[in-house]
Amino acid sequence: MAPDPSRLAINQATVRPQWTLAQAIEGFARQNVRGIAVWRDKLAECGVEEAATMLRDHGMTVTGLCRGGMFPAADAAGLQAALDNNKRAIEEAHAIDARCLVLVAGGLPEGSKDISGARRMVADGLAEILPFARSAGVPLAIEPLHPMYAADRCCVNTIGQANDLCDALGAGVGIAVDVYHLWWDPALEAGIRRAGKERILAFHICDWLVPTTDLLLDRGMMGDGIIDIPRIRGWVEATGYDGFHEVEIFSKDNWWQRDADEVVTVCRERHGTVC
Ligand code: ZN
Repeated sequence: MAPDPSRLAINQATVRPQWTLAQAIEGFARQNVRGIAVWRDKLAECGVEEAATMLRDHGMTVTGLCRGGMFPAADAAGLQAALDNNKRAIEEAHAIDARCLVLVAGGLPEGSKDISGARRMVADGLAEILPFARSAGVPLAIEPLHPMYAADRCCVNTIGQANDLCDALGAGVGIAVDVYHLWWDPALEAGIRRAGKERILAFHICDWLVPTTDLLLDRGMMGDGIIDIPRIRGWVEATGYDGFHEVEIFSKDNWWQRDADEVVTVCRERHGTVC
C-alpha cells in the first residue's frame, strides 16, 4: 500500500546548500510537506525564536533536531564540553517543539583504539543528559549508523545495540530507524519488533546506491538504489508506528546540485511510488 502523503517529512539536509531554514520551511510548505527535521547550525543562523514562530505559522511538525551526541572524548574537559553541548541541543529541541533530539553517538577519541571504551562513554553520556531531557520533555533518539562510520562518527552501529542502550537507560530514550544505516542487518526485523512503537521515534528514508562513491555524501533518492523501503516500512509500521517518513539525503554531486523545489517534488513523487 502506498504511504499516506501527509506522512512525508524532509530533513533539511536534503537541500542543505540550496536553502536556509526559513527557505526550507516555506519551500516544503509550498508543496504541502508538513514535516521537517532541523539542523542546529541552520537553526542558529535563523534564530531559535524566529524559527519557532515560522514553524508554527506554517503548520510544520519538527520530526527531529539534528543533532546531539558525539560523547566520547580524550579527556574530562572534552567529555564535559560534549555534555554541555547536548544540554543546549535539548533546550533548542524544546524551543522548536521537536519530536526528538537525534543523537549521533560519536566515534573513537583521537588516538584511541578502544571501541568498547568509546561505547561506555556513549552510555555514560546518555545517562548524564537523560534527566535533563526528561524534564524538558525532549525524547532522545539514538540513531545507529552504518558500521563504516564506527571510527569517526558513531560507535552505535546496529539496532540491537541501540535497543540494549534503551533497555539500560529506561524512559525518555528511543531510536531513529534509518534505512540507509540499517538495511543490511539480518537482525533488523527482529530489532524493529523489539524496539516497538514506544521506542521508534523517527523513520528516515533514502537509498543505497551501487556503487556508492562517497561514504558520507552520496546517498540516493528513494527508488534509485537497492534498499527495499516498503518492506522495512512495513516492519516499522507493524509496531504501530504512525509518525513521519523523513527523507534524509546527503548528496553533494547530485541532489545538492539541483533546484531545491525540484528536489522536493521528486521526494513527493518517490514517496508515493517506491516507499
Ligand atoms: Zn538518519
